[in-house]
Amino acid sequence: MSKSRKRSEVLYQEALQHIVGGVNSPSRSFKAVGGGAPVFMKRAKGAYFWDEDGNQYIDYLAAYGPIITGHAHPHVTKAITAAAENGVLYGTPTELEITLANMLKEAIPSLDKVRFVNSGTEAVMTTIRVARAYTKRNKIIKFAGCYHGHSDLVLVAAGSGPSTLGIPDSAGIPTSIAHEVITVPFNNLNGLREALDKWGEDVAAVMVEPIVGNFGMVMPEPGFLEGLCQMTHENGSLVIYDEVITAFRFHYGSAQTYAGLDNHEAIQPDLTALGKIIGGGLPIGAYGGRKHIMEQVAPLGPAYQAGTMAGNPASISAGIACLEVLKGEGVYEEMERLTIKLTEGLKASADRNAIPLTINRIRGSFSAHFCDHPVTNYDEAQDTDGEAFAAFFRHMLDRGINLAPSKYEAWFLTTSHTEADIDATLAAAEESFKAMKQ
Ligand code: PMP
Repeated sequence: MSKSRKRSEVLYQEALQHIVGGVNSPSRSFKAVGGGAPVFMKRAKGAYFWDEDGNQYIDYLAAYGPIITGHAHPHVTKAITAAAENGVLYGTPTELEITLANMLKEAIPSLDKVRFVNSGTEAVMTTIRVARAYTKRNKIIKFAGCYHGHSDLVLVAAGSGPSTLGIPDSAGIPTSIAHEVITVPFNNLNGLREALDKWGEDVAAVMVEPIVGNFGMVMPEPGFLEGLCQMTHENGSLVIYDEVITAFRFHYGSAQTYAGLDNHEAIQPDLTALGKIIGGGLPIGAYGGRKHIMEQVAPLGPAYQAGTMAGNPASISAGIACLEVLKGEGVYEEMERLTIKLTEGLKASADRNAIPLTINRIRGSFSAHFCDHPVTNYDEAQDTDGEAFAAFFRHMLDRGINLAPSKYEAWFLTTSHTEADIDATLAAAEESFKAMKQ
């Protein structure tokens, strides 16, 4: 069954000579699944990839989220082509930016004002600056296992308990910066209470992925976001939602307006960071929130943030086109229908082969954890069988199924996946589970 990936191996050796680690983002390496050459893809269309050796794959990576319409969707491609023909970068305002800003505001009502940037990292980084400018406080509370991009403040792990200050998660981050961050467990209001009791006076913001996408897909427990918003606001701090993954992922809106969560009024953030899907596959980020808070941002206010590429017509056009596709009748329902079929089939197949598997599904996305316990926080996500995942990943790859090379990443369906793709994936999974037992 094993596919030949000779050319990927050759290209990997060459890439290693020129590009650090051979990849332009560490999550693309196969380090977490036993190492070796990652697959070098050459072309993508719809739900499929073709690698440099001509092998075809069904893709569930969706480029870590943005490609929700599938690769090279005709409507998105047409918008990008038209933008290219009209010039890709102006350095002046355009009407397109107003159109996309309005689309975001209509779908996510807590956004009175938005600003476009170039990545999720930038969006998150700036929400923190704005929150600090507004509250005139310095510290940030975040949740263990949530990923918020690679800026200094959010690449900080927990200290030895919820009420200790953070330690840097990466070399190059000064301890003085890590000391501005407190990390508490997700779905644990007591941890947040403890941190606020101890450091509250200096806390500018509590930052959270309202539905987690970075240690699998994890829903907040009932009351968690309500309690978080209430405690944070009582403390005079701002609530920042990182919706870089979740915006437009589950419905035409974001987690803060998702029907799977109740009590929307009680879970509205002050600031929201966006990215991924809103750029239709081109580089983008955005942040926004309440008018009086956003007015801290230059040129209106004292918090500086700028960008040569920000709001460029190509990314904005792709974003508009992508959201237009997602506005279509029944689009999310169909992704969900196929995902239910896939997850139910995967679970049944794992059970048949006596392989413990916990699936967390949220509409058209899910995570599959090799364990026999629920996954509701980072500790539980870590306590899963990484070797089993690595074996499954490789068996699936050999059978033409492309997953993210990490046990923490989600599977994303797109509007391009079909019933036949699901059937083929389930057949590959059955063979993979069987092979894992040998
Ligand atoms: N926030 C979240 C929730 C993310 O998942 C990511 C990226 N995976 C980021 C921020 C950073 O976005 P980018 O990679 O576009 O900088």
